Amino acid sequence: MTVMQCNCGREAFYWRRHSGEVLCKKCFMKSVERTVLRTIKREGLFGPKDRIMVALSGGKDSLALLSILSKIERKYDTEIFAVTIDEGVRGYREEGLNIAKRVAGELGIEHRIVSFKEAYGNSLEEIYNLASSKGIKLLGCTFCGVLRRRLINEAAIKFGATKVATGHNLDDEAQTVFINLMRGDVARMIRLGTKPLKVREGFVPRVKPLRYIPEKEIAIYVYLKGYPLYERECPYVRASLRDEVRDILNRIEQRHPGTKFSMVRSVDKLSKLLKGEVGEIKYCKRCGSPSGREVCRMCELLSILGLSSER
Ligand code: SF4
Ligand SMILES: [Zn+2]
Ligand SMILES: [Zn+2]
Repeated sequence: MTVMQCNCGREAFYWRRHSGEVLCKKCFMKSVERTVLRTIKREGLFGPKDRIMVALSGGKDSLALLSILSKIERKYDTEIFAVTIDEGVRGYREEGLNIAKRVAGELGIEHRIVSFKEAYGNSLEEIYNLASSKGIKLLGCTFCGVLRRRLINEAAIKFGATKVATGHNLDDEAQTVFINLMRGDVARMIRLGTKPLKVREGFVPRVKPLRYIPEKEIAIYVYLKGYPLYERECPYVRASLRDEVRDILNRIEQRHPGTKFSMVRSVDKLSKLLKGEVGEIKYCKRCGSPSGREVCRMCELLSILGLSSER
Protein backbone atom coordinates (compact mmCIF):
# COMPACT_ATOMS: atom_id res chain seq x y z
CA MET A 1 0.00 0.00 0.00
CA THR A 2 1.44 3.42 -0.94
CA VAL A 3 1.41 6.09 1.74
CA MET A 4 0.33 9.48 0.41
CA GLN A 5 2.94 12.17 0.88
CA CYS A 6 2.90 15.91 1.28
CA ASN A 7 5.05 17.94 -1.15
CA CYS A 8 7.63 18.34 1.64
CA GLY A 9 8.09 14.55 1.78
CA ARG A 10 6.35 13.98 5.12
CA GLU A 11 3.45 11.63 5.51
CA ALA A 12 0.13 13.13 4.40
CA PHE A 13 -2.37 14.02 7.09
CA TYR A 14 -5.05 16.09 5.38
CA TRP A 15 -6.64 16.11 1.95
CA ARG A 16 -8.11 19.51 1.10
CA ARG A 17 -10.87 18.41 -1.22
CA HIS A 18 -11.74 21.76 -2.79
CA SER A 19 -8.15 22.39 -3.93
CA GLY A 20 -6.83 18.82 -4.18
CA GLU A 21 -3.86 19.62 -1.87
CA VAL A 22 -2.44 16.81 0.26
CA LEU A 23 -0.72 18.14 3.38
CA CYS A 24 1.27 16.87 6.33
CA LYS A 25 0.46 18.24 9.79
CA LYS A 26 3.12 20.93 9.66
CA CYS A 27 2.22 22.15 6.17
CA PHE A 28 -1.47 22.07 7.11
CA MET A 29 -0.88 24.39 10.09
CA LYS A 30 1.26 26.70 7.99
CA SER A 31 -1.27 26.84 5.18
CA VAL A 32 -4.08 27.85 7.57
CA GLU A 33 -1.87 30.59 9.05
CA ARG A 34 -0.82 31.73 5.57
CA THR A 35 -4.43 32.03 4.42
CA VAL A 36 -5.24 34.22 7.42
CA LEU A 37 -2.19 36.39 6.82
CA ARG A 38 -3.07 36.73 3.13
CA THR A 39 -6.61 37.77 4.05
CA ILE A 40 -5.31 40.39 6.47
CA LYS A 41 -2.93 41.83 3.87
CA ARG A 42 -5.26 41.67 0.87
CA GLU A 43 -8.19 43.22 2.71
CA GLY A 44 -6.10 45.67 4.74
CA LEU A 45 -7.68 44.46 7.99
CA PHE A 46 -5.03 45.89 10.31
CA GLY A 47 -2.72 48.86 10.26
CA PRO A 48 0.63 48.92 12.05
CA LYS A 49 -0.64 50.94 15.04
CA ASP A 50 -3.86 49.03 15.57
CA ARG A 51 -4.84 47.86 19.04
CA ILE A 52 -6.80 44.72 18.27
CA MET A 53 -9.36 43.30 20.64
CA VAL A 54 -10.01 39.60 20.04
CA ALA A 55 -13.50 38.53 21.06
CA LEU A 56 -12.48 35.34 22.85
CA SER A 57 -15.40 33.09 23.77
CA GLY A 58 -13.18 30.10 24.52
CA GLY A 59 -14.67 28.19 21.58
CA LYS A 60 -12.48 26.76 18.83
CA ASP A 61 -12.81 29.64 16.36
CA SER A 62 -11.74 32.35 18.77
CA LEU A 63 -8.91 30.18 20.13
CA ALA A 64 -7.55 29.65 16.62
CA LEU A 65 -7.92 33.35 15.90
CA LEU A 66 -6.07 34.39 19.04
CA SER A 67 -3.31 31.89 18.43
CA ILE A 68 -2.77 32.94 14.80
CA LEU A 69 -2.97 36.67 15.52
CA SER A 70 -0.51 36.32 18.39
CA LYS A 71 2.00 34.91 15.88
CA ILE A 72 1.32 37.62 13.34
CA GLU A 73 1.56 40.35 15.96
CA ARG A 74 5.20 39.48 16.48
CA LYS A 75 5.84 40.45 12.86
CA TYR A 76 3.81 43.67 12.87
CA ASP A 77 3.63 46.64 15.14
CA THR A 78 0.10 45.91 16.39
CA GLU A 79 -1.09 45.24 19.91
CA ILE A 80 -3.47 42.45 20.83
CA PHE A 81 -5.63 41.82 23.84
CA ALA A 82 -8.58 39.50 24.42
CA VAL A 83 -11.98 40.03 25.98
CA THR A 84 -14.35 37.29 27.05
CA ILE A 85 -17.98 38.09 27.66
CA ASP A 86 -19.47 36.29 30.64
CA GLU A 87 -23.15 36.09 29.79
CA GLY A 88 -23.88 34.36 33.07
CA VAL A 89 -25.01 30.84 32.30
CA ARG A 90 -24.17 28.69 35.30
CA GLY A 91 -22.69 25.28 34.66
CA TYR A 92 -21.77 26.22 31.09
CA ARG A 93 -19.92 29.50 30.85
CA GLU A 94 -17.29 28.68 33.47
CA GLU A 95 -15.74 26.12 31.14
CA GLY A 96 -15.27 28.63 28.32
CA LEU A 97 -13.95 31.26 30.70
CA ASN A 98 -11.36 28.85 32.05
CA ILE A 99 -10.27 27.79 28.57
CA ALA A 100 -10.04 31.43 27.44
CA LYS A 101 -8.02 32.39 30.54
CA ARG A 102 -5.69 29.44 30.13
CA VAL A 103 -4.95 29.92 26.41
CA ALA A 104 -4.56 33.72 26.67
CA GLY A 105 -2.18 33.12 29.61
CA GLU A 106 -0.15 30.54 27.65
CA LEU A 107 0.15 32.98 24.74
CA GLY A 108 1.07 35.83 27.09
CA ILE A 109 -1.88 37.96 25.96
CA GLU A 110 -3.70 40.45 28.18
CA HIS A 111 -7.14 39.06 28.94
CA ARG A 112 -10.21 40.75 30.38
CA ILE A 113 -13.63 39.46 31.32
CA VAL A 114 -16.75 41.59 31.00
CA SER A 115 -20.06 40.34 32.37
CA PHE A 116 -23.73 40.89 31.52
CA LYS A 117 -24.37 41.21 35.25
CA GLU A 118 -22.02 44.20 35.55
CA ALA A 119 -23.14 45.85 32.34
CA TYR A 120 -26.89 45.21 32.38
CA GLY A 121 -27.48 44.52 36.06
CA ASN A 122 -28.68 41.00 35.19
CA SER A 123 -27.08 37.80 33.98
CA LEU A 124 -28.48 36.08 30.88
CA GLU A 125 -30.19 33.56 33.17
CA GLU A 126 -31.91 36.36 35.06
CA ILE A 127 -32.90 38.12 31.83
CA TYR A 128 -34.30 34.90 30.39
CA ASN A 129 -36.23 34.12 33.59
CA LEU A 130 -37.59 37.67 33.68
CA ALA A 131 -38.74 37.32 30.05
CA SER A 132 -40.39 33.97 30.78
CA SER A 133 -42.18 35.39 33.84
CA LYS A 134 -43.62 38.11 31.58
CA GLY A 135 -44.74 35.53 29.01
CA ILE A 136 -42.19 36.78 26.45
CA LYS A 137 -41.42 33.84 24.21
CA LEU A 138 -38.02 34.83 22.85
CA LEU A 139 -35.10 32.43 22.78
CA GLY A 140 -32.18 32.84 25.19
CA CYS A 141 -29.93 33.19 22.12
CA THR A 142 -31.91 36.21 20.92
CA PHE A 143 -31.16 38.16 24.10
CA CYS A 144 -27.67 36.77 24.32
CA GLY A 145 -26.67 37.67 20.74
CA VAL A 146 -27.96 41.25 20.82
CA LEU A 147 -26.64 42.07 24.30
CA ARG A 148 -23.28 40.41 23.66
CA ARG A 149 -22.73 42.31 20.40
CA ARG A 150 -23.37 45.58 22.19
CA LEU A 151 -21.13 44.71 25.10
CA ILE A 152 -18.25 43.75 22.81
CA ASN A 153 -18.42 47.20 21.23
CA GLU A 154 -18.59 48.90 24.61
CA ALA A 155 -15.61 46.90 25.86
CA ALA A 156 -13.66 47.81 22.72
CA ILE A 157 -14.29 51.52 23.32
CA LYS A 158 -13.53 51.24 27.03
CA PHE A 159 -10.24 49.40 26.53
CA GLY A 160 -9.06 51.56 23.64
CA ALA A 161 -9.32 49.04 20.80
CA THR A 162 -9.16 50.32 17.23
CA LYS A 163 -10.40 47.01 15.76
CA VAL A 164 -12.40 44.04 17.04
CA ALA A 165 -11.44 40.68 15.54
CA THR A 166 -14.05 37.92 15.61
CA GLY A 167 -13.72 34.23 14.80
CA HIS A 168 -16.36 33.93 12.05
CA ASN A 169 -15.26 31.16 9.71
CA LEU A 170 -16.15 30.19 6.12
CA ASP A 171 -19.06 27.99 7.21
CA ASP A 172 -20.58 30.75 9.37
CA GLU A 173 -20.30 33.19 6.51
CA ALA A 174 -21.74 30.85 3.86
CA GLN A 175 -24.66 30.08 6.21
CA THR A 176 -25.31 33.79 6.72
CA VAL A 177 -25.27 34.37 2.95
CA PHE A 178 -27.84 31.60 2.52
CA ILE A 179 -30.06 32.89 5.35
CA ASN A 180 -29.98 36.45 3.99
CA LEU A 181 -30.93 35.16 0.54
CA MET A 182 -33.83 33.24 2.06
CA ARG A 183 -34.98 36.42 3.79
CA GLY A 184 -34.42 38.61 0.75
CA ASP A 185 -32.14 40.83 2.83
CA VAL A 186 -29.68 41.90 0.13
CA ALA A 187 -28.53 45.00 2.04
CA ARG A 188 -27.43 42.89 4.99
CA MET A 189 -25.85 40.32 2.71
CA ILE A 190 -23.60 42.82 0.95
CA ARG A 191 -22.57 44.34 4.27
CA LEU A 192 -21.05 40.95 5.12
CA GLY A 193 -17.35 40.92 4.54
CA THR A 194 -14.01 40.76 6.29
CA LYS A 195 -14.47 44.39 7.37
CA PRO A 196 -17.27 47.00 7.36
CA LEU A 197 -18.01 48.82 4.11
CA LYS A 198 -18.34 52.09 6.03
CA VAL A 199 -16.85 53.21 9.32
CA ARG A 200 -19.61 54.20 11.73
CA GLU A 201 -19.05 56.68 14.50
CA GLY A 202 -19.45 55.02 17.90
CA PHE A 203 -18.78 51.58 16.49
CA VAL A 204 -15.30 50.01 16.59
CA PRO A 205 -14.80 48.28 13.21
CA ARG A 206 -15.10 44.50 13.28
CA VAL A 207 -12.87 42.34 11.16
CA LYS A 208 -13.05 38.62 10.35
CA PRO A 209 -9.62 37.21 9.55
CA LEU A 210 -10.94 33.60 9.47
CA ARG A 211 -13.63 34.27 6.83
CA TYR A 212 -11.95 31.98 4.29
CA ILE A 213 -11.04 29.10 6.64
CA PRO A 214 -13.52 26.19 6.71
CA GLU A 215 -14.83 25.26 10.16
CA LYS A 216 -13.42 21.76 9.83
CA GLU A 217 -9.90 23.12 9.30
CA ILE A 218 -10.23 25.36 12.34
CA ALA A 219 -11.27 22.38 14.45
CA ILE A 220 -8.23 20.42 13.22
CA TYR A 221 -5.92 23.39 13.78
CA VAL A 222 -7.11 23.78 17.38
CA TYR A 223 -6.82 20.03 17.97
CA LEU A 224 -3.25 19.97 16.65
CA LYS A 225 -2.41 22.95 18.87
CA GLY A 226 -3.56 20.85 21.81
CA TYR A 227 -6.11 23.41 23.00
CA PRO A 228 -9.04 22.12 25.03
CA LEU A 229 -12.49 22.07 23.48
CA TYR A 230 -15.84 22.82 25.09
CA GLU A 231 -17.49 19.68 26.34
CA ARG A 232 -20.78 21.12 27.48
CA GLU A 233 -23.60 22.57 25.48
CA CYS A 234 -25.30 25.80 26.44
CA PRO A 235 -28.69 24.98 28.02
CA TYR A 236 -30.35 27.69 25.88
CA VAL A 237 -29.36 26.10 22.55
CA ARG A 238 -32.43 25.35 20.43
CA ALA A 239 -32.75 24.00 16.90
CA SER A 240 -32.54 26.99 14.60
CA LEU A 241 -32.80 27.89 10.94
CA ARG A 242 -29.00 28.12 10.93
CA ASP A 243 -28.77 24.44 11.94
CA GLU A 244 -30.94 23.46 8.98
CA VAL A 245 -28.88 25.64 6.64
CA ARG A 246 -25.66 24.14 8.05
CA ASP A 247 -26.89 20.62 7.23
CA ILE A 248 -27.97 21.61 3.72
CA LEU A 249 -24.66 23.33 2.93
CA ASN A 250 -22.61 20.47 4.36
CA ARG A 251 -24.48 18.02 2.16
CA ILE A 252 -23.92 20.17 -0.94
CA GLU A 253 -20.24 20.74 -0.05
CA GLN A 254 -19.74 17.00 0.32
CA ARG A 255 -20.90 16.43 -3.26
CA HIS A 256 -19.58 19.68 -4.73
CA PRO A 257 -16.40 20.72 -2.88
CA GLY A 258 -15.76 24.45 -2.97
CA THR A 259 -19.43 25.50 -2.85
CA LYS A 260 -19.05 27.44 0.40
CA PHE A 261 -16.06 29.34 -1.00
CA SER A 262 -17.97 30.19 -4.16
CA MET A 263 -20.93 31.50 -2.18
CA VAL A 264 -18.78 33.76 -0.02
CA ARG A 265 -16.67 34.93 -2.98
CA SER A 266 -19.84 35.75 -4.96
CA VAL A 267 -20.99 38.02 -2.15
CA ASP A 268 -17.53 39.65 -2.01
CA LYS A 269 -17.88 40.52 -5.70
CA LEU A 270 -21.42 41.80 -5.23
CA SER A 271 -20.31 43.95 -2.28
CA LYS A 272 -17.67 45.63 -4.42
CA LEU A 273 -20.21 46.36 -7.14
CA LEU A 274 -22.90 47.61 -4.76
CA LYS A 275 -20.70 49.40 -2.24
CA GLY A 276 -22.37 52.74 -2.91
CA GLU A 277 -25.80 51.25 -2.24
CA VAL A 278 -25.26 50.87 1.50
CA GLY A 279 -27.85 53.17 3.04
CA GLU A 280 -27.30 56.11 5.35
CA ILE A 281 -26.26 55.28 8.89
CA LYS A 282 -28.96 55.96 11.46
CA TYR A 283 -28.59 56.20 15.20
CA CYS A 284 -30.95 54.79 17.82
CA LYS A 285 -33.06 57.63 19.20
CA ARG A 286 -32.90 56.14 22.71
CA CYS A 287 -29.28 55.11 23.25
CA GLY A 288 -27.57 56.89 20.33
CA SER A 289 -25.87 53.73 19.06
CA PRO A 290 -25.54 53.12 15.33
CA SER A 291 -28.54 51.15 14.12
CA GLY A 292 -30.47 50.48 10.93
CA ARG A 293 -33.69 51.29 12.83
CA GLU A 294 -35.15 54.18 14.82
CA VAL A 295 -34.90 52.19 18.05
CA CYS A 296 -32.12 49.61 18.13
CA ARG A 297 -32.80 45.96 18.87
CA MET A 298 -31.10 46.18 22.26
CA CYS A 299 -33.28 49.09 23.44
CA GLU A 300 -36.32 47.25 22.09
CA LEU A 301 -35.47 44.07 24.02
CA LEU A 302 -34.62 45.91 27.24
CA SER A 303 -37.82 47.94 27.03
CA ILE A 304 -40.09 44.87 26.64
CA LEU A 305 -38.38 43.49 29.74
CA GLY A 306 -38.97 46.76 31.60
CA LEU A 307 -35.20 47.35 31.93
CA SER A 308 -33.50 50.65 31.19
CA SER A 309 -31.06 51.01 28.30
CA GLU A 310 -29.36 53.93 30.06
CA ARG A 311 -26.14 52.83 31.66
S1 SF4 B 1 -26.06 29.13 22.78
FE1 SF4 B 1 -27.26 31.01 22.71
S2 SF4 B 1 -27.58 31.58 24.83
FE2 SF4 B 1 -25.95 30.08 24.84
S3 SF4 B 1 -24.07 31.29 24.79
FE3 SF4 B 1 -24.59 30.83 22.64
S4 SF4 B 1 -25.85 32.56 21.93
FE4 SF4 B 1 -25.74 32.66 24.18
ZN1 LIG C 1 4.41 18.96 4.39
ZN1 LIG D 1 -30.68 51.85 21.38
